[in-house]
Amino acid sequence: MDGYTIEHHTYDVVVVGAGGAGLRATFGMADKGLSTACVTKVFPTRSHTVAAQGGISASLSNMGEDKWQWHMYDTVKGSDWLGDQDAIEYMCREAIPAVLELEHQGVPFSRTDEGKIYQRPFGGMTTNYGEGVAVRTCAAADRTGHAILHTLYQQSLKRNAKFFIEHFATDLIMDDDGVCRGVMAWDLTTGVLRIFHAQTVILATGGYGRTWFSATSAHTCTGDGNGMVIRAGLPLQDMEFTQFHPTGIYGAGCLITEGARGEGGYLTNAKNERFMERYAPSAKDLASRDVVSRAMTCEINDGRGVGSDGDHIHLHLEHLGEKLIQERLPGIAGSARIFAGVDITREPIPVLPTVHYNMGGIPTNIHGEVVTRNGDSSDTVVPGLMAIGECACVSVHGANRLGSNSLLDIIVFGRSAANRCAEILKAGATQPEINQSQIDPLLGRFDQIRHAKGGHPTAGIRDRMQRTMQKHAAVFRTEETMQSGIHKLDAIYASFEDVAVSDSSMVWNSDLMETLELDNMLQCAQTSLHCAVDRKESRGAHAREDYPDRDDKNWMKHSLCWVEKGGATRFDSRPVHEYTLTDEVDYIPPKERVY
Ligand SMILES: Cc1cc2nc3c(=O)[nH]c(=O)nc-3n(C[C@H](O)[C@H](O)[C@H](O)COP(=O)(O)OP(=O)(O)OC[C@H]3O[C@@H](n4cnc5c(N)ncnc54)[C@H](O)[C@@H]3O)c2cc1C
Repeated sequence: MDGYTIEHHTYDVVVVGAGGAGLRATFGMADKGLSTACVTKVFPTRSHTVAAQGGISASLSNMGEDKWQWHMYDTVKGSDWLGDQDAIEYMCREAIPAVLELEHQGVPFSRTDEGKIYQRPFGGMTTNYGEGVAVRTCAAADRTGHAILHTLYQQSLKRNAKFFIEHFATDLIMDDDGVCRGVMAWDLTTGVLRIFHAQTVILATGGYGRTWFSATSAHTCTGDGNGMVIRAGLPLQDMEFTQFHPTGIYGAGCLITEGARGEGGYLTNAKNERFMERYAPSAKDLASRDVVSRAMTCEINDGRGVGSDGDHIHLHLEHLGEKLIQERLPGIAGSARIFAGVDITREPIPVLPTVHYNMGGIPTNIHGEVVTRNGDSSDTVVPGLMAIGECACVSVHGANRLGSNSLLDIIVFGRSAANRCAEILKAGATQPEINQSQIDPLLGRFDQIRHAKGGHPTAGIRDRMQRTMQKHAAVFRTEETMQSGIHKLDAIYASFEDVAVSDSSMVWNSDLMETLELDNMLQCAQTSLHCAVDRKESRGAHAREDYPDRDDKNWMKHSLCWVEKGGATRFDSRPVHEYTLTDEVDYIPPKERVY
């Protein structure tokens, strides 16, 4: 194997990913004097976080009474009691300082008349433990992610963090003792392969929504960090839980933020009924996302969908008036015009539940440290490896994430990881050598894929995988539909051995990059569908028609899944943390989840 230019770089910390999570960690560590590199396959401000619309939750009480304890209660209930309550306490409590820090760093939030951060209602967010509607989601119009991402990038540049932009991280460098020593990345612009040596590698690679055919996520959301973790022999957690957002634009998949319903929008069926009143009498259109998505699917399946094929639902914003729409939802007006041909001041938007968020991912503790399970059923931290943001599973979202809790997750845990690194790492400490024997297998895999000349083009395998996931890992699931999905997926997974890459160039080779991404998505698909069949209950976003009830006796546990070479899966589990972080708040025991 020759023809590669390899360059070595050494930093205290290397962050893979420049979305909200990666940038919050990057600037936090650079701020603490650690030499920090951020490796990203797209330009930082093109990361998927830029698309986040509605806002970030924090009980600031700017627009009505609020408490972090209420926020914690809503998040536990939203998670259908699968979330770890110590982590949820940490996130909801830290939300307040973390969002105020964002304000001081320069995020241009919308303002109330008194000049405070503007907040709006969001699904599942309540006051007084479910009694009233909380106004908790802090917004910069409907471009909150854009505002946050640009601010964090500027803050990182100000602190001299080093960026490796348009670099594709391929694999983790693990030593024989299971310690992560660095990461390998391909410079897409020059073809150089870079070996990054680091005391700690932080994965912040985002979700894997593109494993499905129709998703609101960017095309870059291909689960690359998850794939790297699987290849390093580590497990992924709770991969059966995928959130369908109720309001993806019919046909296009683009998101219409829940903030639109927060501002007073509502859904109707073909009979012009506001059907959510039947499914969630109190919260109605602002019930939790899994509840609204299931209600919409039931309406369509029962013959009350709108349109000539009766296969979607209407979202109304016309009654809000042009002034409010221009002030609070300008981006939505544009998306609806471009992708649905609709003027939202006059007509409803055609919408459909669409894959939106991955609750599962790389298991971590509240410091962002990756954990795995030992043979003796105890947790161990994987030295030198952290994960934050949508690629991670802390788990604060459990079986279902509440809207506006993800921007919060990426900021709170990006900040927490930076604080942890500052605590445990010594700036400039000498690092052990990385042996060539640790790099050779990674180079070998890269080279094999680069020169793959099999019979299956990447696009064909990807298309089959996406369609299989769309059909067999859907809003409603049964043993039969999922088993038939697994049967198809096993064959699709195996066909990657015979993949064809048309071009072996090392510079701007999109076919090679898409093939490496496909390998990562296949690990995500495999774990998602196998975990879904394994979990014999309905909880949060995992709705099984053959096991319609939640089963706390047998399934109050996180799934862990490994993928062996060849695609076989192996399972274990971790207990849900049924305890809080401090004595200031009590454990919230499971009860029926109604809205
Ligand atoms: C349309 C839409 C709207 C949303 N709105 C909201 C909202 O209003 N509120 C809310 O709380 N949540 C919202 N969410 C969810 C939220 O936006 C995401 O969960 C969050 O932004 C994820 O951030 P992240 O930093 O983990 O990942 P991302 O922002 O996806 O960033 C991932 C980064 O990893 C890099 N990367 C990936 N793979 C590699 C690789 N192999 N090598 C190098 N770099 C790599 C990418 O370049 C990128 O920089 C929304 C989601 C969608 C789809």
